[in-house]
Amino acid sequence: MIRKLLRRVFSKAPPAHEPALIPVEKHHIRRESISPGARQTVARLQEHGHAAFVVGGAVRDLLAGIVPKDFDIATDATPEQVRGIFRRSRIIGRRFRIVHVMSGSETMEVSTFRAGNDVDSETDQHGRVLRDNVFGNVEEDAARRDFTINALYYNPADETITDYHHGVADLRQKTLRMIGDPRKRYREDPVRLLRAVRMAAKLGLAIDPAARTPIREMADLLENVPAARLFDEMLKLLLSGHAVECLRQLREEGLHHGLLPLLDVIMEQPLGERFVWLSLASTDARVNAGKRTSPGFLFATLLWHEALAAWEARKQNGEPSIPALHGAMDEVLDIQGGKLAITRRIAADIKDIWILQPRLENRAGRRPLRVIEQPRFRAGYDFLLLRAESGELDHELADWWRDFIEADTEARLAMLTPEKKPARRKRRRRKGGGEGPDSEGGE
Ligand code: ATP
Ligand code: MG
Repeated sequence: MIRKLLRRVFSKAPPAHEPALIPVEKHHIRRESISPGARQTVARLQEHGHAAFVVGGAVRDLLAGIVPKDFDIATDATPEQVRGIFRRSRIIGRRFRIVHVMSGSETMEVSTFRAGNDVDSETDQHGRVLRDNVFGNVEEDAARRDFTINALYYNPADETITDYHHGVADLRQKTLRMIGDPRKRYREDPVRLLRAVRMAAKLGLAIDPAARTPIREMADLLENVPAARLFDEMLKLLLSGHAVECLRQLREEGLHHGLLPLLDVIMEQPLGERFVWLSLASTDARVNAGKRTSPGFLFATLLWHEALAAWEARKQNGEPSIPALHGAMDEVLDIQGGKLAITRRIAADIKDIWILQPRLENRAGRRPLRVIEQPRFRAGYDFLLLRAESGELDHELADWWRDFIEADTEARLAMLTPEKKPARRKRRRRKGGGEGPDSEGGE
């Protein structure tokens, strides 16, 4: 009986995957679509007798008609062998050792085929894989990738795609399908929950029900992911050019709770919600227009209403405005930083933008002439515009600054308003060592 059952189970086991070798006539990706650096890197590896392919996002994006932002390469050469072939290269990463190969102004990530997670992988108590640095063959490398559309191997030499998991067909059918059992794959690496939403939003795909259903119930697994990885993934998501769609889907799937701990709270305040959506839409527009976007600006907007609330609370407690703002900034960045590992540099950018806000609001005397000279003035002004658009501030202020920026020196001087008398007297009475007039807030 048992033997019969076992036989049945085993005969039903999925067959080892026979890859489809798809010729260029069927997929139309010519080698010219691959960056010169990536093409050269693959060719050099092949000349040295190694297997090498362009993999991952680039092949997927080209198939979807999107210009890839970078080219990743997979090979059977070990990191040391790759390092030995390319003079301008270095091995990076401890957990996953990959090689950065530089060619002209390009940097390619070259990774060695890795085996899946079933072989002796070390996991934490939730099943999250802690190490998977075991090298494997190309078939194993395909199986450990997350979605079928991400397991495509393009060979510029003969312009074929090797497709182990029907990724090309899935992409044509606009389906995001997990390779293997979705629950198991999410447990191994909960970041895949976020990747599912990001890929679906970016490419306009429907998440296959088997991969979609567990997302909500497994959302808590994200709490377990190291902050730095979560931050990297959040940045990718927010700077994908599809942040509005991503966030909408994250909310729908109940995933936003685990990300920015306060994002759900912010989203519940009408003004905060409007501000966050406006900022995401403006980030998307910038990304899609090929303009530079800074993570600092983005996080400054996402966390602004938290900072505002903390600032207000401190002022109510009698703290002077500017020290209260500094205290509020540290408070908010501490809470969010713990989970998201906002880097120190980005935290400094966020603070620069926030500190400019009261300074932009206080136009008295010659202050505007000094504020406009600040290195982060432009970011501060863009931030002010969003605040005005969201209804937090009177548009008059934003319009005044726009005119001030456009004006020449003479016109700027004419736009200044004299300092109010009482304020001046107060300042004279202040003893040395206090704040300069510039650091004074104005609400
Ligand atoms: P993009 O670069 O557009 O954000 P991508 O798919 O290239 O998308 P990367 O993070 O650059 O994403 O990863 C490169 C490839 O590595 C992916 O296409 C996928 O095959 C694999 N990969 C990345 N992250 C994971 C993961 N968490 N689990 C399994 N495979 C992954
Ligand atoms: Mg990539």
